[in-house]
Amino acid sequence: MFQLSDEQIAIQDTARRMANEIFKDRAADIDRSEQYPWDNVKDLTVAGFMGMTIPKEHGGLGLSYMDVVLVVEELARVCGVTARIVVEGNMGAIGAICAYGSKKQIERVAPLVLAGDKPAICITEPGSGSAATSMTTTAVKKGDKYIINGIKHWITGGGVSKTHLIFAQVEEDGERKGIGGFIAVRDEDKGLIIGKREPAMGLRGIPETEIIFEDLEI
Ligand SMILES: Cc1cc2nc3c(=O)[nH]c(=O)nc-3n(C[C@H](O)[C@H](O)[C@H](O)COP(=O)(O)OP(=O)(O)OC[C@H]3O[C@@H](n4cnc5c(N)ncnc54)[C@H](O)[C@@H]3O)c2cc1C
Repeated sequence: MFQLSDEQIAIQDTARRMANEIFKDRAADIDRSEQYPWDNVKDLTVAGFMGMTIPKEHGGLGLSYMDVVLVVEELARVCGVTARIVVEGNMGAIGAICAYGSKKQIERVAPLVLAGDKPAICITEPGSGSAATSMTTTAVKKGDKYIINGIKHWITGGGVSKTHLIFAQVEEDGERKGIGGFIAVRDEDKGLIIGKREPAMGLRGIPETEIIFEDLEI
């Protein structure tokens, strides 16, 4: 058994109030229109619910995954899409980048997430789903850069996310080095192309798309 701290209860109360007073009434329209809810993103950002887990030295609140879960739980009651945005605005790609990325990498993406960007994580490919290690996207080292080529699909946030954490088979001097993660920012790094959107039965307000990498230089 554990008890929530006063700070956690305050976070939960804020999320519950926003869910009931703001997000609930917008949810059906998001589902119907299949439009990404930028107005909800703005409200989440103002409330400090994007980048909650980013360390304080990088401008975040340095909060825990448990704190995020309290928000997600409240929002998911009324709008799955909005809850999903909070998941990915605090865990997933940004969680991995904060845990394993370099200072430079964190400094590049933290301001984007704190401003409302929901990062995309790019693992699944048409020929490798559950068997993620069978992925064929390559990152070939050329000088001090890696050149990424391949195709991903079912990428949540394709076309709306700026930050992308891309997993690929790393090759150096013709030798396979295993799977590595690379960060790219849409519209800043050339060669990241958004492909077709998949129709979805649920969570229809977030696009699920193909993403194609054509000589994406990192
Ligand atoms: C809404 C949605 C959002 C997604 N978002 C992302 C995202 O943001 N980024 C990303 O990278 N991916 C994303 N995905 C992809 C998701 O991770 C894959 O769908 C998942 O990994 C399964 O792969 P698959 O669909 O190719 O199914 P498959 O791997 O082809 O599996 C099909 C079926 O076979 C079963 N199966 C597979 N292998 C075995 C085995 N060895 N033994 C027994 N049974 C097996 C599975 O359990 C499943 O029932 C998303 C998918 C969905 C539906």
